[in-house]
Amino acid sequence: MATSKKTNGELLSERLLSNKKNGGLVLDDKQIKAADDFCEDYKAFLNTAKIEREAVIESVRLAKKAGFKEYVRGKKYKAGEKFYYVNRGKAIILGVIGKDSLDKGIRLAAAHIDSPRLDLKQNPLYEDKELCLFKTHYYGGIKKYQWTTIPMSLHGVIVKSDGETVSVNIGEDAGDPVFCVTDILPHLANEQMKRTLAQGIKGEELNLLIGSRPFRDDKVSKKVKLNIMVILNEKYGISEDDFISAELEAVPAFKACDVGFDRSLVGAYGQDDKVCAYTALKAILDCKSPKKTCLTCLTDKEEIGSDGNTGLNSSYLNYFICDLAKTYGFEGRNVISASECLSADVNAAFDPTFPENFEIRNSCQINYGVCATKFTGSRGKYDTSDASAEFVARIRKLFDDNDVLWQTGELGKVDAGGGGTVAKYIANLDMDVIDVGVPVLSMHAPYELTSKIDTYMAYKAFAVFFAD
Ligand code: MN
Ligand code: MN
Repeated sequence: MATSKKTNGELLSERLLSNKKNGGLVLDDKQIKAADDFCEDYKAFLNTAKIEREAVIESVRLAKKAGFKEYVRGKKYKAGEKFYYVNRGKAIILGVIGKDSLDKGIRLAAAHIDSPRLDLKQNPLYEDKELCLFKTHYYGGIKKYQWTTIPMSLHGVIVKSDGETVSVNIGEDAGDPVFCVTDILPHLANEQMKRTLAQGIKGEELNLLIGSRPFRDDKVSKKVKLNIMVILNEKYGISEDDFISAELEAVPAFKACDVGFDRSLVGAYGQDDKVCAYTALKAILDCKSPKKTCLTCLTDKEEIGSDGNTGLNSSYLNYFICDLAKTYGFEGRNVISASECLSADVNAAFDPTFPENFEIRNSCQINYGVCATKFTGSRGKYDTSDASAEFVARIRKLFDDNDVLWQTGELGKVDAGGGGTVAKYIANLDMDVIDVGVPVLSMHAPYELTSKIDTYMAYKAFAVFFAD
């Protein structure tokens, strides 16, 4: 059989030109099946862990199953020992002690487990024209019009004045009622249609409908509200004032499912950033006797700027590493300076329906693997950490040497807008860090899309980083 010889030009272009390819073409059947299988558990995680508190509970459950124990401050852990530390029920650090001494540095993966949603206000409950509603205050960057006329569930906690905590999770199980923000019918929307898209639905119009039947007693005025409060009192033992010390979050009630005839995509609420949280969690759970001490940090508050004591602009991660370092007789800051981090957060996948918002040569693409983002920010690289060329080169080689399908991508066109991640807060501690995460379509919408191949490759990226 005659084999056609490659021309000089073909050989040169193979050697000299970049040629990233679609994962659907370069991965073998076994790898694609591994990606599909991986995402079955990922979908289950998405359905269980819709808000940060639930993500922490589920992470602890999975960690315990994998032999992790609650962190004991001051305990000198031996190589291979595994622990987890929970910060106020909303953030978690999971670790595996490495064979190398801690002053050689830590390998950290940091993702966030909060997602855009509608939080209830402190005085949420009201009745208007014999309908009962909750006032909400949206959390994170949302296109408000997307959050009307979809089924919503309610998650979170109510802490009574005596300290008793009541967990709320309603609208997820079969047979549960759901809730809904209404919108005006198109027939009567002449004025609304003249508003800009940003103003199409206003913040004070995101009111969640929760009931309509009156309490049958002519002596009381707010009959529907009373009826709802009677139901809530029966179910949770609360009165109206207990909402003041509650954190209740309305999120889309959709379940995660396969999208596309080929089932290549996952559609679900909250994939920014649970797709990186789950993959970074799985990587630490599967981490066996690493050389360096490895940590996965699943943090809260990223979507509102990382401020607050459960966000990475606070000191909790810094304190944790310092405590750990002290146990082994090292200065925390020396351990931090020697450490490396993959800031695990999503990027915007190129959307062919909106090509004008992307710069095609520097946008990540669905199915091209996990995306390494050197910098984010806006207005000329403000508000970001710009990973050094040296660190990018190291991560690039790590991924290439370990068959991680990966790509680079900026967040859209230079002046199109912008965004940030936790990378800058970690970099500001004096650690090398780069954003590595999964491309997402319809980011921050109630229903976000990711590719199964890219998700699996994120897991692989974090796993090889820990194993290196
Ligand atoms: Mn994110
Ligand atoms: Mn986000």
